[in-house]
Amino acid sequence: MSKSTKYAKILRAVSHYLVFFALAAFVVTCCSMLFISVLSVTLDIELTHDNLNTAAKLTFINVVIISLIFTVADALRRRLTVDIPIRRIVDATEKMIQGDFSVRIKPIGRFATDDKFNDIVNCFNKMAEELSSVETLRTDFVANVSHEMKTPLAVMQNFGTLLQDPNLPDEKRIEYAKGITDASRRLADMMTNILKLNRLENQQIYPQAAEYDLGEQLCECLLQYENVWERSGIDIDTDIAENVTVKADAELLSLVWNNLFSNAFKFTPDGGKVTVTLSATEHHAVVKVTDTGCGMSPEVGAHIFEKFYQGDTSHSSQGNGLGLALVKRVVDITQGEIGVESAVGIGSTFTVKIKRA
Ligand code: ADP
Repeated sequence: MSKSTKYAKILRAVSHYLVFFALAAFVVTCCSMLFISVLSVTLDIELTHDNLNTAAKLTFINVVIISLIFTVADALRRRLTVDIPIRRIVDATEKMIQGDFSVRIKPIGRFATDDKFNDIVNCFNKMAEELSSVETLRTDFVANVSHEMKTPLAVMQNFGTLLQDPNLPDEKRIEYAKGITDASRRLADMMTNILKLNRLENQQIYPQAAEYDLGEQLCECLLQYENVWERSGIDIDTDIAENVTVKADAELLSLVWNNLFSNAFKFTPDGGKVTVTLSATEHHAVVKVTDTGCGMSPEVGAHIFEKFYQGDTSHSSQGNGLGLALVKRVVDITQGEIGVESAVGIGSTFTVKIKRA
């Protein structure tokens, strides 16, 4: 704080006390004069010059002493009930401005202040909590993105170096070029998912909802994986109820089915089975995607909808842990529900409920 600001502050405080002192003196003087005049009339005392002189001096000293006592008492009261709480709030706010989101203000003692300051303190603490969780999310997000980018970039760098060898046989050249293409595709997929997720996270309204047949959409999405299940000998079982319509954004919901199907095929070993069912309740369309894959433990299950979380590291190169975060966000936007039941070594069932049209 600069010297001039400090002086201005002291001057303001002194002038505040002087004003209070003058006000108290005025009130006490008025009271004393009223008292003396009423006393003189009631007791029929004649106010001579002499006794007026003595009374005036005594009254003046009394007025000064009483006003001083009032001023000191008011200063103490202000310090306890206003200055100290405000100082605490200002200190905490300054720390937060400097980026310390862990700061919290202790509740202010009830005897010292009214509850209004504690209302401010509660709001401040809530705001600090929110900001610190946003900050953690942001730093985690940046750390995760950087980590996820490093692997494909290292792969590309490595293959790029190997490709510089002029005596490289053709088949190696093709293999390394394919490695670079795969790594760059992974990177591009991750960026696309991050952008989609970012767009969805900032979007609260339900976009372009239209009524359509959910069964047809499920079949179309599933058919895109035909060569995957044929290649790996995965058995497909479907039980799709007819004429189940939903009012939703078809493009967004196709993200959900594509992610669930691709996970089911990814985590199911060759020769396994993937089942897709669609049924309808009075208010909901219920889609179940079941696989006989590796399944997951309850600990893994508790985190699968978090960004960048990968429970099964053996398939980590085939994804980036953003798929189910996207799925969850879309289901939330469509005001639906998603749940998972799974057992390690037996398989998983993802159930999605969407409001019917
Ligand atoms: P990724 O694209 O990396 O698989 P997801 O967000 O789609 O990321 O999935 C997150 C994690 O959830 C996976 O790493 C895996 O542990 C688990 N998971 C998702 N679907 C299945 C499934 N069908 N069977 C077993 N585990 C699954």
